[in-house]
Amino acid sequence: MQKRDELYAGKAKSVYFTDDDSKLILHYRNDTSAFDGEKIEQLDRKGEVNNKFSAFIMQKLEEAGVPTHHEGVISAEESVVKKLDMFPIECVVRNIAAGSICKRLGVEEGISLNPPTFEFFLKNDELHDPMINEYHIRSFGWADDVAVEKMKELTFKVNEVLTQLFRDADMLLVDYKLEFGRYRGEILLGDEFTPDGCRLWDVETRKKLDKDRFRQGLGGVVEAYEEVARRLGVDLS
Ligand code: ADP
Ligand code: UDP
Repeated sequence: MQKRDELYAGKAKSVYFTDDDSKLILHYRNDTSAFDGEKIEQLDRKGEVNNKFSAFIMQKLEEAGVPTHHEGVISAEESVVKKLDMFPIECVVRNIAAGSICKRLGVEEGISLNPPTFEFFLKNDELHDPMINEYHIRSFGWADDVAVEKMKELTFKVNEVLTQLFRDADMLLVDYKLEFGRYRGEILLGDEFTPDGCRLWDVETRKKLDKDRFRQGLGGVVEAYEEVARRLGVDLS
């Protein structure tokens, strides 16, 4: 597979065209950002860890019947994916209250959410990714009703699969963000699943093992991601 021009440089990944117009290459960089790009740092090994981590999770999800864009890892920091027509929407499921929901609703971090909550956010850094609902999605035409239902169904299916996967490795899946897109009429999970886009706590100590270490200046960010990978059996060699 030949890498061609850059299509897009995001905050953490660069996206390249390839000689196959139905495929893209995602390059996971070491750049780490928080607060809509206000805090940015380079963290050694993060690109490689996240590339291999996301590939591992996408494979697990495929095995469980969640269709994804993932095709294969082609280098330490790069993977080939199907080129999706992305919905400008983020789907967030929360099993435990943390992050923005605590600020928004004035609830304490760590409260179990039973049943888990589901939220949509608009992918728009300038507007700080505002929370939206299904009526906004419909009125502004960001996705049709069938796609909205599919994204919710798949996001909850991911919760079932990954809550168990992490629990088996002594971690709590607190919350996570997914992005979907359309490929030849089908809705597939796109983007990434890494500790950059979810919250993971040690089940006993509740130690944070995700990007909150970076957001909150706790240190040991990549070391925590590597610990998560090691517990799951991700091959980082
Ligand atoms: P951001 O855009 O939030 O800064 P990234 O740095 O991770 O995020 O950039 C990756 C970009 O690639 C995101 O905008 C994401 O929506 C997009 N993307 C991810 N997977 C695919 C795919 N399979 N097809 C097309 N675009 C994708
Ligand atoms: N998230 C993300 N990208 C975003 C916003 C959120 O990956 O642009 C993830 C975040 O890492 C967390 C979950 O989605 O796992 C919920 O995030 P929250 O709404 O609490 O926002 P935060 O306070 O983390 O910005």
